[in-house]
Amino acid sequence: MSEADDSTKAIALQLPSPVQAISPQWRNANCLQLFVKRDDLIHPIVSGNKWRKLAPQLARLSGTRPVHVISFGGGFSNHLHSLSFCCAHNGFRFTAMVRGDYRRNLTPMLRDCERWGSEIRFLTKAEYARRTEEGFINSLKSQNPGATLIPEGGSHPDCLTGMQMLADELTQQIGQVDALFVPVASGGTLAGLAAARGQTKQLIGVAVLKGQQYLESLVEGLLTHNPRKTVNTSYRITHDFHHGGYAKAPHLLKCFCDEHSEQLNLPLEPIYSGKALFAMRQFVESGYFTPGQKVVFLHTGGIQGTRPLV
Ligand SMILES: *Cc1c(COP(=O)(O)O)cnc(C)c1O
Repeated sequence: MSEADDSTKAIALQLPSPVQAISPQWRNANCLQLFVKRDDLIHPIVSGNKWRKLAPQLARLSGTRPVHVISFGGGFSNHLHSLSFCCAHNGFRFTAMVRGDYRRNLTPMLRDCERWGSEIRFLTKAEYARRTEEGFINSLKSQNPGATLIPEGGSHPDCLTGMQMLADELTQQIGQVDALFVPVASGGTLAGLAAARGQTKQLIGVAVLKGQQYLESLVEGLLTHNPRKTVNTSYRITHDFHHGGYAKAPHLLKCFCDEHSEQLNLPLEPIYSGKALFAMRQFVESGYFTPGQKVVFLHTGGIQGTRPLV
């Protein structure tokens, strides 16, 4: 009786995640205070911001049985990877709805999901495009009674709670922050930080895909669920750094990642963290900040997504 069963064993997490001071060789960098918030170190598998976003949702489910979670993502998705691992750990049934057909050539991410006992369903791109339509959701619900649907990227309104934790850590660790750079894809991370109370003055979201207007509307949509109905931190999204679109990684960006990984002793990948840090360099070098200001890059994890197909 005294031994906790597997499903209730806590996942070992490094929280608060560390803050690392950096001194890159950028113009203007030496008169600013530059830091990286290392959410990539929270857990080796559960990618940083995905942990922040999923934790409140999983906690809500953990008192109930049986649990069946369904969610959506691409073949390399950090979100599906994190969620599959967490569901296996908690003894939840998990169905991953994947965009595209990888049956003949499973990605490393999908192999892991399979190993962790997830069910994988491949959707055509046209089917996947319907994932938020009411008709599609309703038929999915009737085929899977009692299942919990989590949106793509884990950007459910609950993720606002998880981001408040991150804002609190930052305040405790380094006090007031003048600007925080965050990659933006499904918007939950940026929306949660905008809603959070804290001492960050400005959030700069870096669009990692071509989505002017679309990304703004995702963030605004999530913010309507914010119980306080106000944005505590002003935010903007810059659309100048997607480098051609989602998962597009031109040579220039790859070189930037390699160079900075080495110089800063920081793992970087070109899909999220590379683009966000690239943007931060541009802002710093252009003289956007005044001397002495404290500027932070949020490393959201995601290194697993770059594993090559075998
Ligand atoms: C999902 C993801 C993002 C994007 O966060 P959103 O909340 O979806 O905007 C950023 N970085 C990494 C590593 C991710 O996996």
